[in-house]
Amino acid sequence: MTYEEITETLRQRGFRLTAARKHVIKVLDQHPEYLGAYDIHHLLEATEMHIGISSIYRVLEMLQNLNLLQQEEFGQGGIRYRLQRPSQPHAHQLICSRCGRTEELGDCPLSHWADRLEQDSGFEIQAHWLRFFGLCPACQITEVRSQKSEARGQRSETRDRKSDVGGQRSETRDRKSDVGGQRSETRDQRSDARGQKPEA
Ligand SMILES: [Zn+2]
Ligand SMILES: [Zn+2]
Repeated sequence: MTYEEITETLRQRGFRLTAARKHVIKVLDQHPEYLGAYDIHHLLEATEMHIGISSIYRVLEMLQNLNLLQQEEFGQGGIRYRLQRPSQPHAHQLICSRCGRTEELGDCPLSHWADRLEQDSGFEIQAHWLRFFGLCPACQITEVRSQKSEARGQRSETRDRKSDVGGQRSETRDRKSDVGGQRSETRDQRSDARGQKPEA
């Protein structure tokens, strides 16, 4: 569904077109990939649109209730959404678990298997879903880059730790000289004790 069709649907159902609703729908319309509430928030912030995360969730919930959204679980990335599109009635998808980019697979690779399953099990199969999650070509490149820079970061961290060890060593030296100071203090106390003896 396009932005115009969705806003028209909302009007017909008696929903007011608030700024939050308009902008969230616009972002979803411009992005065919799956987006999380925070992705939408960041995209809006980038265009100087300040819409709170809870308002975004409310708009998503409304669209969900009107059956205008598709939602998908992305493991640690949480739930992401995209507009219901009049794509093929039955399709399978490749979904990038990093950026949410989605590609539809043309043919159903399971139809023969589903037929056989029906015959073997006696079930009348009404639906099935198949989704492949992974990294799209662009995200594979950024992943490799970030792994490299992470490795670099760890190396410099190791260096920092070494210099920390150096710092600890000099601290130990300081402590030794403190001990030396205490020793001389002890000597002073002894001499005090000696000094006290005659009095007692
Ligand atoms: Zn990606
Ligand atoms: Zn299928």
